[in-house]
Amino acid sequence: MRPEHFPPDIRSRVIPEPGGRLIYSCLSCASEFDIAKLLYTCPDCGQVLLIQDERFERLKQTPAEQWRRIFDYRRMLTLPALKGIYRYHEFIGPVIPLPAVVYLGEGHTPVIEANALLQEAVGMRFYFKNDGQNPSASFKDRGMASALSYIHYLIISGKVSEVLAICASTGDTSAAAALYAAYLRPHIKSAVLLPHKKVTPQQLSQPLGSGARVYEIPGVFDDCMKVVEALSDHYDVALLNSKNAWRILGQESYSYEIAQEFEYEMADKVVVVPIGNAGNITAVMSGFIKFQQVGLIDALPKIIGVQSAHADPVYQYYLEPDAQKRKFVPQNVRASVAQAAMIGNPVSMPRVVQLVNRYNDLAGSQRVHIVQVAEQAIMEWYLKANRNGHIACTHGGECLAGLKAALSKGLLTGAETAIIDSTAHALKFAGFQDMYFENSFPVDFEVQPQPSLINRPVYVHPKDLDEVPAPGKPLSGPAFEQFVQTVTRWIAEDLHLIKKTTT
Ligand SMILES: *Cc1c(COP(=O)(O)O)cnc(C)c1O
Ligand SMILES: [Zn+2]
Repeated sequence: MRPEHFPPDIRSRVIPEPGGRLIYSCLSCASEFDIAKLLYTCPDCGQVLLIQDERFERLKQTPAEQWRRIFDYRRMLTLPALKGIYRYHEFIGPVIPLPAVVYLGEGHTPVIEANALLQEAVGMRFYFKNDGQNPSASFKDRGMASALSYIHYLIISGKVSEVLAICASTGDTSAAAALYAAYLRPHIKSAVLLPHKKVTPQQLSQPLGSGARVYEIPGVFDDCMKVVEALSDHYDVALLNSKNAWRILGQESYSYEIAQEFEYEMADKVVVVPIGNAGNITAVMSGFIKFQQVGLIDALPKIIGVQSAHADPVYQYYLEPDAQKRKFVPQNVRASVAQAAMIGNPVSMPRVVQLVNRYNDLAGSQRVHIVQVAEQAIMEWYLKANRNGHIACTHGGECLAGLKAALSKGLLTGAETAIIDSTAHALKFAGFQDMYFENSFPVDFEVQPQPSLINRPVYVHPKDLDEVPAPGKPLSGPAFEQFVQTVTRWIAEDLHLIKKTTT
């Protein structure tokens, strides 16, 4: 629909003008810095930064009801810049002019109600938000669209020319970074650092296919992260890890979409997210807080952050009930099927600590909880989700296991509605399904397959078959007929099919 066909009060607002004044703000020493230069940590104290809008108050002048109409009308626009995360332009990147927006189809991922059997198995009502249906098949595209739109803005406004974008990754960040960088050729080139053999073959294929320079580093993600930090400290590169606060801004779209999808009724909602580097949960909290500040949502939803027992530094931190006594201890992670979250020293931890406090304060009660789940539970819920018509990855399974854990711990009433973050597409992690089905998990995963969840292909090999077709050697005549009949009978017997009666 064209803007001129919108109601007059919407028409002037439906295409946003650049506005606001964004600054980097340090969580630790409260210093503020201009966004004209790419910063990742505070030049004064070294702490991570968040991007804040100094003119955020102006957004409160628009009544919530009008915001809702603006977002609903933007849904009908055919303008690419507003089809993705920038539907919420005023909240995500108000300074970005629309021609700078890079849109590759990210955001507005389907929200699918879990089927009846699965809801029954968990014991409450819930939905999956299929973030694996983003262009590079994980939620990371949300943050990348934001970070690369900003870099694109710097390029087209002549502030920078050649950009080398780098990141360390557990797989999905590099897939997204390489994809968006490739789209902005020749101005941007990308290089990614991956822990050797700690990303899936599908994830490795993605940055290779996008033409990034791919480095495999011995060790785990935390080791790659240290190298990337050293590179960005000493060389002129654009860091695309979630340390980059632009990524957090883009990932806030996940919360905005949930709000819009559920008619802004958040009082009875529970948002379940896995925690790795903790960028995602940071963004989810930040997004809901912003919408709450302008009155767009009725309440802050509960948030359940989930960690595997094999990589649970955030969970361990919050185990101590006395906030004064909490101490963050980086961890040596163990093998995890939630491989994209296998992180022992999450970069966003300082942001999490601050935002969790703020979130709970604003809500007036504890609304953020962190739970821990076993590798076995992650695998089983991952497989069960997919058996019930969903496309969850292992991290979706981790969320589901976390929902179940939160329910049994009494953190939820059961009368609420949960939204499970299926952070990537099931296909990216199919190797873990193979290991389960073939019972070939290395011992350190601590996963024991349950026979009832195993599914294997059946090789059809009737004994009384003389000839079989092969590529370039088709069968014909009686040989082909015999082949079809024999194989048909074999499958019918295997499936215990009952013959049609002819009358
Ligand atoms: C990155 C990632 C996570 C973890 O998100 P963080 O922001 O690092 O906490 C979880 N699942 C998938 C599929 C991911 O790619
Ligand atoms: Zn500082």
